[in-house]
Order: sequence, then structure tokens, then C-alpha cells
Amino acid sequence: MHNFQAVLETIYHDAINADDKGKVATYIPELAHIDKGNLGIHLRTSDGKEYGVGDYNKPFSIQSISKVLALSKAMSLIGEDIWERIDVEPSGNPFNFLSLLEIENGIPRNPLINSGAIVIADVLISNLKNPKEDFLNYVRELTGDNTINFNKAVAHSEKVTGFKNYAAANLLKSFKNLNNPVEDVLDFYFHQCSIEMTCSQLSKAFYLFANKGKCLKNKLHITEQQVKRINALMLTCGFYDEAGEFAFEVGLPGKSGVGGGIVALLPEKFVISTWSPGLNIKGNSKLGMLALEQFTTKTKLSIF
Ligand code: GLU
Repeated sequence: MHNFQAVLETIYHDAINADDKGKVATYIPELAHIDKGNLGIHLRTSDGKEYGVGDYNKPFSIQSISKVLALSKAMSLIGEDIWERIDVEPSGNPFNFLSLLEIENGIPRNPLINSGAIVIADVLISNLKNPKEDFLNYVRELTGDNTINFNKAVAHSEKVTGFKNYAAANLLKSFKNLNNPVEDVLDFYFHQCSIEMTCSQLSKAFYLFANKGKCLKNKLHITEQQVKRINALMLTCGFYDEAGEFAFEVGLPGKSGVGGGIVALLPEKFVISTWSPGLNIKGNSKLGMLALEQFTTKTKLSIF
């Protein structure tokens, strides 16, 4: 049996004293002012125990982490049809990389890069009655927490600066891989990315991926096959062009966001979330990566 609280405290202490804490993302102006001295780590084991250190109860912008939740909702709505519109190959490119290769014949390489997530946003708009509200309610239901919300200032900040996302959406539209107007799809996408959560809320939200598709209330949201697919995508595509490095160092499926959050999990064992806003050169949280590498090294709990 591990003393998880002691492990987290050691890791926190080592990471917070690192000289290089990375750089906060400035391309979304609203995120630029966040202090990179923040570091939170939260672990939730499948038997319901929770452990936390540092800023694990401070809300942050989940950004690309939302892509996994959006994907799971879309899969629950339209099942395997999704793969007619999106591929499942890692890209080895940055999240906002835009090239015809990334969207070959209008098909994004995977659902966790921006162009893929924009197609998922289109699926959700077509299949939900009140898309933004319904998606937010899904996240609230998974987490069992109605306080979770969009950050409208962050969504607006992306709307006025998200030229590459507009370019990607227009390209997808030109290939007829968006059924709704570009404006509507991006409005949804920017809002889903702006959702704020704490590490402890994130560990709850991702519990279904460690628990065969059932959320904390034991309600089945996605099938075991869908869980397998989503975890495989997180492992191969969850960290931009650093997915190989994350698998190599940490060895868990997971997803990062430019807000500095990372969530990772070991099926049937635990979900772990970290937040520290300083990013490495690949756009992943510098201290978060460090902490997770230490966690799986010290506990020997990885999928490998
Ligand atoms: N909303 C961000 C964007 O589209 C998400 C980026 C990320 O977290 O990877 O630029």
C-alpha cells in the first residue's frame, strides 16, 4: 500500500522548487496574467479516496482538456459514425498546426487536435438541443458539481484572437466537414475550452474513463469499447507533439491544455490531475509533466 499523501507532498516539494517553471501561454490574452508559481496535484483512487497538495482547489481554464469530454459526449450521441469525419492517428504536430496534411481531404488527423475538436463541436451542435447549456450540464453531471461554468472573458478573448481556429474551421467548411455555420461552431468550441475547473473537479470528471464508462453516480455514459478508444486516443494524441514523451516518461493516457492542466489515469485504479500554468516549449505544463513522471516512477503505477 502506498502512502499517496506523502508521495504527493514529496513530488510537490521537488517540483515547486524547480528553477525553470516554463512560460505561461500568452496567445490567449486572458490567460497571460496567471501566476506560474501555482501548482496543484490531486489524486482520486477508484475506491473513492482523495489526496491533494498545493493549489488543487483553485479553478483554472481547462482549455484542450475539454476536447476529451466533448469527444465522449459526441461518441455517446452518434457512436462509430464519428470516424467517417475524423481520423485516429497521432499528428506529431503542435495543437494549432494548420496544414492540408493535418486535414487531409477535410478529415482531421484525430479528435484531440484543434481541427478535430472543431468537427466534434459541430457534431454536438447538430445533436444537442441547447448545445452550450447541455454540454455544460454534462460536465456538471460527470463531476457532480453545479458550480462549474464557462469563463466568458476567456471565450471572448479567444474569439477575437483565434485566427488559426477560424482558418481551420473555414478549411473544414470548404471540405463540407462542418454542417453548421463557422461562427456557431467556433462559439461553442471557444466556450467549451473556457470551462474552469479545479484539479479535484477534473479528477472526478474523468472518473468514467477509469471506470468502464460509468460516472461517480454509477450512471453509464459511454460503452467499454468507447472508453478503450478514448484512452487510446489520449495516450497517442493527448499531448500535442509530445505524446511520445509523455507515454515514455509517465506511461498513462492523459490530456493537457494550454491553461496548464493535465489529467491522466490508470484504468480501474485512479485519476490524477495537475495544474501549473507555466508551459514547456511543446505547450504542456512544465511542473505538471515533472510531477506526473515522478508519481509513476515512485509508485510504479503506469499502464506499462
Ligand atoms: N482553446 C485553445 C485553442 O484552440 C486550446 C488549446 C489547447 O489547450 O491546446 O487555441
